Amino acid sequence: MGKILKEKDKEVIRHFLSNALIGGLNMEKKNDMRFSQIIEEVSRCLLCYDPPCSKACPGGKNAADIIMSLRFKNYKGACHKFMDDLDKSGECGLACNNKMYCQRNCIRGKIDRPIKIRMIHKFLHEESLKVEEVI
Ligand code: SF4
Repeated sequence: MGKILKEKDKEVIRHFLSNALIGGLNMEKKNDMRFSQIIEEVSRCLLCYDPPCSKACPGGKNAADIIMSLRFKNYKGACHKFMDDLDKSGECGLACNNKMYCQRNCIRGKIDRPIKIRMIHKFLHEESLKVEEVI
């Protein structure tokens, strides 16, 4: 988010973003590729007890928590967590200079390939910007 948002605006974004994701669930049924990829990725997450993805973020973002909410289709929860993280440390990639510590430390990478955490955050960020444009 490039500008300082009022608390009311943030609430509006949270509301619309969670609705957009719930809409995404319908997209999933219509074979929307991008949303299907997100669902596929979060379903691969091992829901680690002490998630190294979150611990590795220099900006203090809790990637695992957002993934868990998405995994259980708690889109509203995911949006709240994502917006709170955005408030705390800004756009994903700023704190770590796009070094993707979260994704590089994902345990799933030791089995086959890491969860595409960056893609998930990018998706949420782009969706929130779309909402910001209309408020
Ligand atoms: S480290 Fe990977 S598998 Fe574990 S919680 Fe984070 S994203 Fe999921």
